[in-house]
Amino acid sequence: MSIETSFDSAAGPYQGDDKLVIAPSGLLALLPIGVLVCDIDERRGHPLPIINEHACTLMRLDLDEQSQPCLDDIPVLEFGEPLLSLFRQAIRQNRSINHSWLIESGGTAQHICCTITPLNSDGIRRPRVLCTLSDRTVEKRAEETLLHQALHDELTGLPNRNLFLNRLEEAVSRCREESDLYCAVLMLNVDRFQLVNESSGHQIGDKFLIDLAESLRGCLRSNDLLARFSGDEFAILITNTNSPDDAVLLADRIHKMMEKPRCLGETDAYMSISIGIASTHGSHKHPEELIRDADISMHRAKKSGRGRTEVFLRGSYIVRRDQIKLETALRHAIHNQDLELFYQPVIDLESGRIVAFEALTRWHDPERGFISPGDFIPIAEDTGLIMPLGRWAMHTACKQLVLWKSAIAGLDDLYVNVNLSPVQLLHEDIPATVRDILAATGLDGKKLRLEITESALVADPTGAAAKLHEIKAQDVTLALDDFGTGYSSLNYLNSFPIDCIKIDRSFVSRVERDEQSAKIIRIITMLADTLHMSVIAEGIENSEQHMMMRSLGCRYGQGFLFARPLPHEEAEAYLRRALKNNCSVF
Ligand code: C2E
Ligand code: MG
Ligand code: MG
Repeated sequence: MSIETSFDSAAGPYQGDDKLVIAPSGLLALLPIGVLVCDIDERRGHPLPIINEHACTLMRLDLDEQSQPCLDDIPVLEFGEPLLSLFRQAIRQNRSINHSWLIESGGTAQHICCTITPLNSDGIRRPRVLCTLSDRTVEKRAEETLLHQALHDELTGLPNRNLFLNRLEEAVSRCREESDLYCAVLMLNVDRFQLVNESSGHQIGDKFLIDLAESLRGCLRSNDLLARFSGDEFAILITNTNSPDDAVLLADRIHKMMEKPRCLGETDAYMSISIGIASTHGSHKHPEELIRDADISMHRAKKSGRGRTEVFLRGSYIVRRDQIKLETALRHAIHNQDLELFYQPVIDLESGRIVAFEALTRWHDPERGFISPGDFIPIAEDTGLIMPLGRWAMHTACKQLVLWKSAIAGLDDLYVNVNLSPVQLLHEDIPATVRDILAATGLDGKKLRLEITESALVADPTGAAAKLHEIKAQDVTLALDDFGTGYSSLNYLNSFPIDCIKIDRSFVSRVERDEQSAKIIRIITMLADTLHMSVIAEGIENSEQHMMMRSLGCRYGQGFLFARPLPHEEAEAYLRRALKNNCSVF
C-alpha cells in the first residue's frame, strides 16, 4: 500500500512503519500544499517519513532519493527551529495548532502558514505529527495592499483618517496610563486652497498637495504622525511628549516652512496654513474630542486672519455648541420672517443731502435679545442661510425704496445700498436674483447699489467679474465695501466694474491721530477721482472726522454722527426732516 493512498483514502491516521517514504507522484504530490509527517526523535534528527515535493520546495529541502530527510536538515533556520517547537507544543497539548510566519531571504518575503496535528494513535511508537504547509505570500500581499489602501490616502500616500484614529486611540490610552505623558493633535487646513484649484486646475492642485505633504513631513520629528483627512485638510499626531510647547513649536516650524513661495504650475504663490491644536494636557480626552477641539481651533485660526495657530481652550467648545444653537434659531428667524431691515443714511459731506440708505439686517431673538450681524452673518455664510437671507434683504430694501419714492416727492436721486455676501456672489446666480427682485418690486436698477467686499473678488476673480458685468448690465451700481481691510489691491479697482469705494471705519477712526491713515485716504480719493469712482467714508462719529474726510477729498460719508441704522419708520422721519431742512441733515 502506498502512503499516498492511505492518505488519499482518508482511512484514518497514517499507520505505516518508520520506512522512509517520499511521495514521488500521485495525489499527495498533486496537492497544492506541502504535507509532511515528522517523528519527534532527536537522536535521529527528527526524521520526516512523509514529505511531498511541495513541502520540500517551501522548506528549500533538496532531496536525494537515497537519503532520509530530517527536519534538522532544513537549511532555512526560521523554518526548522520554530517548526520543531510547534510540533512539540501540538503533542504536549494533544491538539491541532495553526501558525504562520514570515521568512525573508534574498530580498524576498514569504508568508507561510501551517497546521500541525499530533498523530498520537496507539499504533505509533513515538511522537509523530502531521504538518500541512502553504505559501500565502500572494494572498498576504493582496491583503496588505487592501489594508494599505484602507488606511492611506491615495494621492499623497499618507495615513488617512482611519489610521490616524487608530494611532490616536493607542496614544490616548498610553497617556491615561502614564500621567506625565500626553499627546496633541494638530489640524491643518490650507488657506484659500480652492483658489489654487480654480485658478490653476486640479492637476496643479494635486501636485501642490503632494509637495505640501512632503514639506510637512520634513517638519516632523521621528515619532510624529502626519495624515491627510480630505482635500486640503491634514492632521498631525504628536505622541509621548512631556513638553506642552512641542505642538506649538511644530506649528511654528510649519508656518516658517510656508513662508517660502510654492510652485503652482508656471507661477509661484505664497500660501498659508491655519493650524488648530488640542492636547490631552490637563484633561484626558477621547480621541474624537481631541480631533473636534483641534478642528474648532483651526477654524478660529482661519477666522482670526489665516496663517495662524490657535490652541484649544475649554471655552471654545461651548462657543461652538452655542453656534449650532444659534444656527437653528437663525433658520427659524429667516423662515418666520423675524428679521428686520434697518437703514443708515449716506450723506453728502458738503451739502448734508441724503444720497442713499444702506440696508443693514437686524435680528432680535426672543430668547437671546439683539444679535449683531457680526455674529450671525458668518453663521449664515457657513450654512448657506445667507442665500435666503440676502434675497430677503435685497427684496425688502428695494420695496422700501419704491414705497418711499411713491410717498415722498423729491427722492429721484435716492439710492438704496444692499450688502452682498461673497458666498452669494460665489454660489448663487446673483444676476438672476437681482433681475427678479427689480422686476418684482419695480425699482429702477439705477437706484440699487450692491456692496461687495474684496474677498468676494479674490475667491473666483473670473466668475465674479462675469457676474458683476451681468449685474451692471441691469444698471445696478457696485460699491467696494470695507476698503483698506482686506487685500486692498488697487488692481481690483481696475479689473471690476466698480462705481464706488467705501473706506473702512478703521481708517476713519484713526484719521485725526494718524498721519499715515490720512495719507492713505488721500491717495484713495485721488485714485477714485481718476477712475471716476465716488468715495464713501464709513463710521464717521464726530465732526473732526467729518471735516478731515471732507478735506481729504471724500465726498460722501455715513456714521453715528449723522444717524445710526434706523428702523424704516424712523429712517422715513429722518428723510422727511432733511427734506424740510433744505434737503440737508446739517
Ligand atoms: P458694513 O456693510 O460695513 O456696515 C457698516 C457697519 O458699520 C454696520 O454695522 C453699521 O451699523 C456700522 N456703523 C455705521 N456707522 C458707524 C459708526 O459711526 N460707528 C460705528 N462703530 N459703527 C458704525 P452692522 O449693522 O453691525 O453690520 C456689520 C456688518 O454686517 C456689515 O458691515 C455687513 O458687512 C454685514 N451685514 C449687515 N447686514 C447684512 C446683510 O443684510 N447682508 C450681508 N451680506 N451682510 C450684512
Ligand atoms: Mg456695507
Ligand atoms: Mg463696511
